Amino acid sequence: MTGSSSRTAYTTNNVGIPVESDEHSLTISPDGPILLQDHYLIEKMAQFNRERVPERVVHAKGAGAYGVFEVTNDVSQFTKAVVFQPGARTDMLARFSTVAGEQGSPDTWRDPRGFALKFYTELGNYDMVGNNTPVFFVRDPQKFQDFIRSQKRHPATGLRSNDMQWDFWTLSPESAHMVTWLMGDRGIPKTYRNMNGYSSHTYMWVNGAGERFWVKYHFKTDQGIDFLPQADADAMAGSDGDHHRRDLYEAIESGNAPSWSLKVQIMPFEDAADYRFNPFDLTKVWPHGDYPLIDVGRMTLNENPEDYFIHIEQAAFEPSNLIPGVGPSPDKMLLGRLFSYPDTHRYRIGPNYAQLPPNRARTTVRSYAKDGPMRYEPSAAARPYAPNSYGGPAADTERFGDPAGWAAAGEMVREAYKLHREDDDWGQAGTQVREVLDDAARDRLVSNVSGHLAQGVSRPVLDRALQYWRNIDKVIGDRIAKNMNGG
Ligand code: NDP
Repeated sequence: MTGSSSRTAYTTNNVGIPVESDEHSLTISPDGPILLQDHYLIEKMAQFNRERVPERVVHAKGAGAYGVFEVTNDVSQFTKAVVFQPGARTDMLARFSTVAGEQGSPDTWRDPRGFALKFYTELGNYDMVGNNTPVFFVRDPQKFQDFIRSQKRHPATGLRSNDMQWDFWTLSPESAHMVTWLMGDRGIPKTYRNMNGYSSHTYMWVNGAGERFWVKYHFKTDQGIDFLPQADADAMAGSDGDHHRRDLYEAIESGNAPSWSLKVQIMPFEDAADYRFNPFDLTKVWPHGDYPLIDVGRMTLNENPEDYFIHIEQAAFEPSNLIPGVGPSPDKMLLGRLFSYPDTHRYRIGPNYAQLPPNRARTTVRSYAKDGPMRYEPSAAARPYAPNSYGGPAADTERFGDPAGWAAAGEMVREAYKLHREDDDWGQAGTQVREVLDDAARDRLVSNVSGHLAQGVSRPVLDRALQYWRNIDKVIGDRIAKNMNGG
């Protein structure tokens, strides 16, 4: 063994220059002042001051892993998307998260959970950015920012406020279906492995013949749905605030790779116009009896990130990453998100976020984009404009030119969706309470809502909340009212 190979590798600064000490600053005599020329100390302090990127405004606390998606059925009659073709196997990344809490908030607070997926296909990255719920609180992006602010911290106290939450919800009755989910067992999953993921939105699928379909995705957990009762979740928030992040990491590390089976509901394109519910309203499901689930494939998460910050904190999911064979629908929330996700990434991690390790395509990128902060890959185009006569790429309109879209015409308006014949704000929430939940789950729902309303919800918000629950279901509403009014 040579002398040099028996030594520990030496520390360097960020550009590989050997450093003189890991422990001592450069000073004039042992007790003297520190010198500005200690550039290694200054590099360490400056780097440290810049270690954080802004946390996500929503979905700040999360966990994630890499994996693979395998197709197990033939759905090529509905979509030509490469990721869903028979036998396809696609590397992927998943990130799960809470919504309203900050980076350090406990994983077991009652909240919806984000369910964001990125598939690295040969035709570029395809992202599905859903939740563990098939519905959402609002149906127009005009209300999204207001909704989130009502769930975050009170401007004066800096505290989360149940009063703000119920104030917004009761003034926005379209929230009723989602609030029923949130206040029930699904509002606190036992682990990230024990929850389903849903596209929530309706998307468009286009097959090889150019035929169009509407589609909703359901990723069903193969570990089984499970939840934490409120008291257990509260205890866990104190004893292990990172419980869900830890559970996912440790399961994968021990070879216990979690998986989810993807099923879809397919609606023929023509059905949308007079389906009994507006199929693009994000506060509604398509009942399974109308559009049954069809098997597609399975995703398995089998690889932990080697560095959490690089791969999960810098992961940038965007519903606008749609590959040929998948398109948006007229869901107004989805259309708003197509803009807002890439925009927040440009702000949070910079305009060249697509070059970061979790976000870079695993196919050749031939974009004309150039320059900007932190760019480190050259453009594939020899001249930065199209068309050019120096061999630059040219769009293949013949192959990719058909937009996945639909006809639209009419006056510009600011109006709610047109109601279909069974559309209302309370009906599907009521169905869930009466027909899906069992007695024990209904008891827990009443207890969860009563406990939540008992913490700082003032009148008249409380009165509106009681009426809100009576609108969902008279019996449940009366039971909650009895709890709140002391009988
Ligand atoms: P179904 O009886 O066909 O389906 C009800 C679904 O509810 C189940 O398949 C299951 O979906 C889900 N579920 C079961 N237990 C709970 C629970 N404790 N909390 C929340 N969801 C639960 O009914 P419909 O399709 O006609 O829908 C009736 C109601 O069921 C809807 O109003 C909606 O609230 C709820 N639901 C409907 C879904 C849909 O896409 N049609 C999906 C989920 C819920 P899963 O296996 O996906 O968890």
